Amino acid sequence: MLPDRGPSHEFALIDWIRGKAAAHPRVAVGIGDDAAVLQFPERSNCLVTVDMLMEGTDFLLDSATPRQIGRKSLGVNLSDIAAMAGTPLAAFVAVALPRREGETLASELYVGIDEMAREFDVALAGGDTNTWDGPLVISITVLGEAGPGGAVLRSGAKEGDWIFCTGSLGGSISGKHLDFIPRVREAIALRDAVPLQSMIDISDGLAADLFHILEESRVGAILDEAAIPVSPAASELQDGRSPLEHALGDGEDFELIFTVTPENGQRLLTKNPCAVSLTKLGEIVSGTGCQLRGRDDKLTPLPPLGWKHQFHNSR
Ligand code: ADP
Ligand code: MG
Repeated sequence: MLPDRGPSHEFALIDWIRGKAAAHPRVAVGIGDDAAVLQFPERSNCLVTVDMLMEGTDFLLDSATPRQIGRKSLGVNLSDIAAMAGTPLAAFVAVALPRREGETLASELYVGIDEMAREFDVALAGGDTNTWDGPLVISITVLGEAGPGGAVLRSGAKEGDWIFCTGSLGGSISGKHLDFIPRVREAIALRDAVPLQSMIDISDGLAADLFHILEESRVGAILDEAAIPVSPAASELQDGRSPLEHALGDGEDFELIFTVTPENGQRLLTKNPCAVSLTKLGEIVSGTGCQLRGRDDKLTPLPPLGWKHQFHNSR
């Protein structure tokens, strides 16, 4: 809930955030001292990730509400923890607040951060607050805990693996880029169901992000055009690009791409442990780069960048 009157200066803001922040068993000391004290389980691998969002580059204040920006700034970090198949535990929020916007911006931003933090049981354990004459900049660091088998890396894909993704892809510009749900629960359910060989979250687009797995794992891939789960939003966009192009190229879907052995892939297809859909997109092959297998079985190279252009010309 928004307070009647927002905080009037930085200390009041910190006090207000401190009052809102939920307690968490892993946070022995949270907001209020010089540093936070976290209690991690012995021998668990600590995951750390940070992402910065800047007004004018990553969002515009006239097309996104501060609450949405707050949700997104934490959500992108939670998505990175999900991509390692970890559990997020604590968030540290550094903000540069534009003086011109006054106090409402800051409190609404925190309403969004706090909402997302509660949805995923993440402690708001500290941060830094500055006011300046520049635009809104928000940088969040999230700490998490890897699963019992360790973090799932980009580099573990093996020839023969099946490639999967969660949810449907493309057209996030129509709204999902601000209102996505990071796939934390799905990543944990997947990792508990089968060993995951490699994983990444989709921030730059299916083709671009799969390419990171291919490069890090030193393998290639074949994707089946007919299998790509094109989202309704991608189909509805009327901008001259096909729904498939959107599904392959659009960023900020924040779904997961991962690879598993064929036996484990079959298990996932038989019994999906997630609350969202899972789709088998194709297979990992030897070599490098990605190819798209058309409905006619013909293979076309699918470059990670400049792909849209080439695809247009080939039609
Ligand atoms: P210091 O000057 O010692 O760094 P600060 O006044 O910056 O102390 O911060 C006081 C406390 O408030 C610290 O625990 C810090 O982590 C927390 N804090 C400051 N800004 C934020 C913020 N934007 N969100 C969450 N916690 C914050
Ligand atoms: Mg400080």
